[in-house]
Amino acid sequence: MKKRNIIVIGGGAAGMMAALTAADADACVTLIEKNEKLGKKLYITGKGRCNITNDSDIQNLLFHVMSNPKFLYSAFNTFDSKKLIDFFQNKGLNLKTERGHRVFPVSDKSSDVIKTLKNALEERNVKIYYNTEVEKINTKDGVFKSVSIKNKTLNADAVIIATGGISYPSTGSTGDGYRFATDTGHKIKDTSPSLVPFNIKEDFVKELQGLSLRNVEFSLSDGKKILYREIGEMLFTHFGISGPLVLTASSYASGRDISNMKMAVDLKPGLTKQQLDERILRDFSECKNGLFKNSLGRLLPGKLIPVIIKLSSIDGDKKVNSITKQERMRLVDILKRLVMTPISLRGFNEAVITKGGVIVKEINPSTMESKKVKGMYFAGEVIDTDAMTGGYNLQIAWSTGYLAGLSAAVTDM
Ligand SMILES: Cc1cc2nc3c(=O)[nH]c(=O)nc-3n(C[C@H](O)[C@H](O)[C@H](O)COP(=O)(O)OP(=O)(O)OC[C@H]3O[C@@H](n4cnc5c(N)ncnc54)[C@H](O)[C@@H]3O)c2cc1C
Repeated sequence: MKKRNIIVIGGGAAGMMAALTAADADACVTLIEKNEKLGKKLYITGKGRCNITNDSDIQNLLFHVMSNPKFLYSAFNTFDSKKLIDFFQNKGLNLKTERGHRVFPVSDKSSDVIKTLKNALEERNVKIYYNTEVEKINTKDGVFKSVSIKNKTLNADAVIIATGGISYPSTGSTGDGYRFATDTGHKIKDTSPSLVPFNIKEDFVKELQGLSLRNVEFSLSDGKKILYREIGEMLFTHFGISGPLVLTASSYASGRDISNMKMAVDLKPGLTKQQLDERILRDFSECKNGLFKNSLGRLLPGKLIPVIIKLSSIDGDKKVNSITKQERMRLVDILKRLVMTPISLRGFNEAVITKGGVIVKEINPSTMESKKVKGMYFAGEVIDTDAMTGGYNLQIAWSTGYLAGLSAAVTDM
């Protein structure tokens, strides 16, 4: 039987997995990457350590998907995180699991993940075109025919579009897949940056630049109801706030009107207001004649003290034994609810993920094939799905890449 000829566009996580899976299913595969090397984005994932997946069951994977989890059911079912872990370990990449079931290479080097995939692609004789940009997808009567690269047309039986989103465009993900999709009659759900820091209105955040807070409770509301609330870590920057809690919160704000949104930080989530007041009174009693400004050192990090003093409107030079109950209550209220106003999300240049993309209604979830163009498949971030941090976004790329590669190679699936 004649081998199926498959072109994969994009040498990121989804594209490499799709190419390998199709080659394993005995297809003749060409992988086209516009950069000079594979996996430029993969290289910077997990701060260079690559959190490749989350070692958890399908229900947990789906729970952490923000947009269109149901669409991913078949993809996760076909190739879940357990299979991914086996896949890498069988190829000699040792893995370890850290807090929150996050899986990393033992070496802590994302480059080892890329090397493993590249070696496997070469072993399977996948033809890789580097420095080659696909310019156009050619179809006829609703059937995929060929792709155009500079001065050349490459024919194939099927194409897999794995071009990523538009976040961190310096890695090559510049939204070309959206153009290929619209040119061939697909709709795109509006894109917006997600898992991204916030610009904040209050000037005090600039004074806190560099301060990282642990075990605080961060909440985001739309002015009426709480959208997100969690205990964890956050960071103040020169423009606003970032860190794990904030990035996750951004996925609830991305693509929405944030003009009425409010954020609050509970600096002492383990204490009720009354317990906190008692704690403050204890601290005050240990320095009765001391000044207010010198009394908070055991309660707060140094950088935060002048800001909290200013917000409490209590004179920092006042003696603690003359601070009134009303003033103390004001202090407690601020410590339990430090309010901030988001101005905007930072841009795609700083976003871990793109929300939006090729709408899922036009893709068959059991195969990843387009419902509009036969022989055209989508995989990875180009699709309108996104998830929280923790390895879930890469798992989407691996699972959809695997399913697209398998379906494109074995058409009677
Ligand atoms: C800083 C950062 C850290 C992250 N850390 C993690 C993490 O630890 N864990 C996690 O799960 N997720 C993480 N993510 C998200 C994760 O990287 C993405 O979800 C994933 O890379 C998407 O894979 P993809 O293959 O769909 O797209 P991409 O990785 O973006 O790959 C797309 C590829 O297509 C190529 N391409 C585009 N257009 C063309 C064209 N016209 N012709 C040829 N080639 C083309 C691009 O050059 C690129 O190589 C992180 C993202 C960022 C930005």
